[in-house]
Amino acid sequence: MSTRSIPPAEFAVVCGSANWGLRFPEDLEEPGVAVVARDLEFDTPWGPSRDWKILEIDGSKTADGQKRTVLTVFSHGWPLDRIDHEANRRVFWLLQEAGVRKVIACSTAGSLNRAIQERDFVITSDILELTQTQHSLLPSRFRYDCSGKQLVCPHCAAVMERSAKALWPTDARVFGPRAQLVAAHAWGPRLTSPAEITAYRTLGADFINHSLAPEATLAREIGACFVNCAFITAAFQNYFAPPEVNVLGEGVLSDMKFTASRIALHAIAAFESDSGCLCASLRSLQPDSHAERR
Ligand SMILES: [Zn+2]
Repeated sequence: MSTRSIPPAEFAVVCGSANWGLRFPEDLEEPGVAVVARDLEFDTPWGPSRDWKILEIDGSKTADGQKRTVLTVFSHGWPLDRIDHEANRRVFWLLQEAGVRKVIACSTAGSLNRAIQERDFVITSDILELTQTQHSLLPSRFRYDCSGKQLVCPHCAAVMERSAKALWPTDARVFGPRAQLVAAHAWGPRLTSPAEITAYRTLGADFINHSLAPEATLAREIGACFVNCAFITAAFQNYFAPPEVNVLGEGVLSDMKFTASRIALHAIAAFESDSGCLCASLRSLQPDSHAERR
């Protein structure tokens, strides 16, 4: 199915490796969550973006008692037939067109810290992305200033932590905003080398993946609140183990993907529409004179 206009929605779940191997959300059979449309494709200024779904969450499940429309896209909008780092920009341009105000980004991650183990659920508080995405959505250098502060919404992170603590297995941990974790970025798709792990750890990051940072930046650029829904599949120690040891822990994804996916649905239903956070104001207009007086 192909269409040219994206429907209005305040909420979005950008799926990722945390949801690989299941149909999100159909396979969860979550009460009160319906798939209105699937296999949607939308045009963007940078080409089509595929594998979108429109979900509806029943008012009996939402924070404000109102029916909630949620947009969701398969695995960061990554195409199936090539590596394409621009996919994030197409996704967030569509979220902007839809009027999305709150975004959950799902992913898995590698630990940069001995204390953060595989199967732990990690909500980041800051981003370490030294070059930032080259695929910015800002119209120019002269229209907006985008702050690097509070890239993760405190309201959304608190809701995510509550949702995770209610469902995550008790033999693993949930790291919420109080842990002040820092997420680093590498584009991938190759997994991070031992030397790179040592470097990112030295720089102060606690875990790393291929998607979270550019998505946080793009959420700021569209003035939306952002939080991640992620868990650790690669333990810090695994990066330094002999080559025959798989960095990605055995069975972690298959064990945790259903629970993580359900947490994303519960959190997106529980967000307050008007959460009183500063996120939207952290993208601010520059004076017209910056572009006009030249
Ligand atoms: Zn916010």
